[in-house]
Amino acid sequence: MEYVFLVKIAFSMFQNTLAFAQAQDAKDPLKSYRTKFHIPKDAEGNEWLYFCGNSLGLQPKVTQEYIQQELKDWANLGVEGHFDAKNPWMPYHEFLTENMAKIVGAKPIEVVIMNTLTTNLHLLMVSFYQPTKTKYKIVIESDAFPSDRYAVESQLKFHGFDPKEGLLEWKPRKGEELLRMEDLETMLEAEGDEIALLMIGGVNYYTGQYLDIKKIAELGHAKGAMVGIDLAHGAGNIQPNLHDSNVDFAAWCTYKYLNSGPGSLAGLFVHEKHAHNKELNRFAGWWGHDKETRFNMRFDFNPIPGAESWQLSNPPILSMAAIKASLDMFDEVGMDALREKSETLTAYFEYLINEIDTDRIKIITPSNLAERGCQLSIQVKNADKSLHQKLIDRHIITDWREPDVIRCAPVPLYNTFQDVYRMVDELKKCL
Ligand SMILES: *Cc1c(COP(=O)(O)O)cnc(C)c1O
Repeated sequence: MEYVFLVKIAFSMFQNTLAFAQAQDAKDPLKSYRTKFHIPKDAEGNEWLYFCGNSLGLQPKVTQEYIQQELKDWANLGVEGHFDAKNPWMPYHEFLTENMAKIVGAKPIEVVIMNTLTTNLHLLMVSFYQPTKTKYKIVIESDAFPSDRYAVESQLKFHGFDPKEGLLEWKPRKGEELLRMEDLETMLEAEGDEIALLMIGGVNYYTGQYLDIKKIAELGHAKGAMVGIDLAHGAGNIQPNLHDSNVDFAAWCTYKYLNSGPGSLAGLFVHEKHAHNKELNRFAGWWGHDKETRFNMRFDFNPIPGAESWQLSNPPILSMAAIKASLDMFDEVGMDALREKSETLTAYFEYLINEIDTDRIKIITPSNLAERGCQLSIQVKNADKSLHQKLIDRHIITDWREPDVIRCAPVPLYNTFQDVYRMVDELKKCL
């Protein structure tokens, strides 16, 4: 699908009117996709303005059918469904791989869907965090998602290191919100010999800043460190080109921009350069073992080449069915078209917010398109949380993140220019 309108984005192309927003929607090649989602409604049947796809994506209407298919096959076939279901359960995860790989710019051998995000981070660190007495430190970004921080701290402790010494934070400068690559370089210059791993959020959950992960990989590798990326806020939002970025590993959930349902399974990426390394430490399970001899329980563990070998268990098919429903839709649209609409939609959102004459709010997300996805983080003066409540009272769903940010994500698959216009119009009234 080709996305034709507004190739370059300049605010002068926008107008602060409902008519302009309506006209943009009318020529949006992706406009039919909104009708393919369940949009939550208030008691009177009015659709909410939903800007929380960064936290939980909306439900595609086809998801029910995909799950029903598996329930039906289970009812009719019992255990035979592993081989005879319409989508046999034995290889079910393989049906997701190619589409998932395209979304994150990876080769199929590099990607698998399994477990949940934090679990995957741990399993990946078992393999890629191999500290020695002198090279053991882990770098994260200072406002990393709490679960990521707990995960790396507990890995340090597990290996006998004190997180106070072992955990290094890449911080924004005083008075700034965003990370600067020079500061990571400086840290690596000073302490690189002691750093074993960089574990960085590719798109920061708080500021929405999309970091140059290729550059991060280059800097980390130059100091002999492994590089892992958390893509929870990147997958389905930006195109991280994981293979070309040369990062060693990555993981992400599928319930945010990938619309696969609360607590759904996660993605895992291991770069092709590690695909055939059987010596890598790993926690093993039968689903990671060579498919030919998986059911012959008398063989020593023999990992499948690539990401699949990190699998432990046979996966929950009902959750995978929801993922399949979503990924089939992503494949139909393609990340290029999605990204193109996303850039324009978020730029329009930014333009409208900047038109409000107030010093009570400020966007902290980068305005450079290459450094953000669809999310804008609006910092509220004096951390006035009541503004967020006022939005909720008007059925505008955003989320508040301590200390002082409202996160809003216009998602290109189901949000419209009119959503954005109406949202900012209400925001203005709340201010
Ligand atoms: C959403 C999110 C998580 C959540 O982890 P789960 O294991 O899926 O509960 C972790 N890290 C980041 C960066 C996230 O955005």
